[in-house]
Amino acid sequence: MTDTISQAWQTPHRRYNPLRGSWVLVSPQRTQRPWQGEVTKRPTEEALHYDPACYLCPGNTRAGGHQNPKYTGVFAFDNDYAALMPHSPDVPASETSPLLVADNESGRCRVLCFHPDHSLTIARMKVDDIARVVKAWTEETRTLGAMPEISYVQIFENRGAMMGASNPHPHCQIWATEHVPEEPLKELSWQKIYQTANNACLLCDYLKIEIERAQRIVVENDSFVAVVPFWAVWPFETLLLSRRHFGSFEDFSAPERRALADLMKRLTTHYDNLFEVSFPYTMGFHQSPCDGEPHPEWHFHAHYYPPLLRSAEIRKFMVGFEMLGMPQRDITPEQAAQRLRDTPEKHYAG
Ligand SMILES: [Zn+2]
Ligand SMILES: [Zn+2]
Ligand SMILES: [Zn+2]
Repeated sequence: MTDTISQAWQTPHRRYNPLRGSWVLVSPQRTQRPWQGEVTKRPTEEALHYDPACYLCPGNTRAGGHQNPKYTGVFAFDNDYAALMPHSPDVPASETSPLLVADNESGRCRVLCFHPDHSLTIARMKVDDIARVVKAWTEETRTLGAMPEISYVQIFENRGAMMGASNPHPHCQIWATEHVPEEPLKELSWQKIYQTANNACLLCDYLKIEIERAQRIVVENDSFVAVVPFWAVWPFETLLLSRRHFGSFEDFSAPERRALADLMKRLTTHYDNLFEVSFPYTMGFHQSPCDGEPHPEWHFHAHYYPPLLRSAEIRKFMVGFEMLGMPQRDITPEQAAQRLRDTPEKHYAG
């Protein structure tokens, strides 16, 4: 049955993303030529555990003269070049046209270093150390979310120069905003609509289907599952879902914090092993808004958006039809999941 389904998907079709109400064009016939196996192996980068020029390494001085403590675990601080201000002044009210709409946006931007060792990545950190990062995300969510002017806490990581990460030191950013940003706002609305219509959670129902079909799962443990979603846009995009229905880091149990750490390590190891390169990506958590409203419809999840397509050098670009029409992909999500799953669980660099 699985084969019949996969064959039916070998011709151009479009798939619907119920989480954001959008479509993606899938053109699998374009990759039916046999896989060339043109995987360029890069020499493993020289491990630099401490970089005197890195503004995130322990003890170093950052812009504006701030000195990092000689931290041994995680370390969080306010971004020296914050995109948001805590109490941003009112926007000028001089524009009267309804077509020229602006609004205030206050917020905070934080940086969180995962580890003092400059050379590490999530894939190469110990599960216990990643669990400590998960704990820090929980504390940041609690502190920022409790601020009356904050409605959303967006935690995200840009990994690799290809994704514009300015520094390889393992870290993420946390932007907390007065309004719920565009992407979670879309997901909020579609999750609400689904819940009202079906009296059920969209992502709980989706997860049930993925577990039943077992075609798109990459890794799983007792508390979390990572799948290449049916509607994936990026070639090796994944969606990480909690098995239990809850909305935010604040709802985690201690075993779930560790389980998330375990799953993130395993997922990123599969990514790295695919082309034997430290896999670039943008990833982030979508948790429920902290706008003072209850959010029973919201299901905690994370998105991984890696740009690589065919090798360590060949990336996917979202241009042409994708900017002007709709996103398009060649390799099917089922093939992508299979390729990731087939890589070893052990990191190629040992
Ligand atoms: Zn560093
Ligand atoms: Zn749910
Ligand atoms: Zn999301």
